Amino acid sequence: MFPFFQAKHNCYCAFCKSPRRIYRKKNISFMNVLASLMASIVIMFAIWREFDPRAIIAFVICLAISETFVQIRWRLAVVCRTCGFDPILYVKNPEAAASKVRMQLDLRKEDPKYLLAKPLNLPAISAKKAEALQTKEKGRLVSRSI
Ligand SMILES: [Zn+2]
Repeated sequence: MFPFFQAKHNCYCAFCKSPRRIYRKKNISFMNVLASLMASIVIMFAIWREFDPRAIIAFVICLAISETFVQIRWRLAVVCRTCGFDPILYVKNPEAAASKVRMQLDLRKEDPKYLLAKPLNLPAISAKKAEALQTKEKGRLVSRSI
């Protein structure tokens, strides 16, 4: 109904094209700041039973914890669970991202759970392009038969 307020966002994996849902929020919002404020007020009354300036430290710690958790949640949700493709790692280091995908696809090949599963829609590489890639220094391609 209100797509802007939804916590998750529907999208597709950039590599295997499987539908996924990722968290929209990358950093804490005003509501997290408000929740941290409430938590620090509760902590303040639980420890000192009156207004105390040391509650500011508890507030900052609550903010740091919530920011850390929101960022970790976002970072873990970005990675595709099906093929293991990590778009952020791909931007920084494409070889490392490719090796992670290869590892995930090898695990998928070994796992009997996926024997009768729908095959992944991996990008096709033409024979000419594959030959060109083989002659380069790496020469390792992701198999399409998974
Ligand atoms: Zn994927």
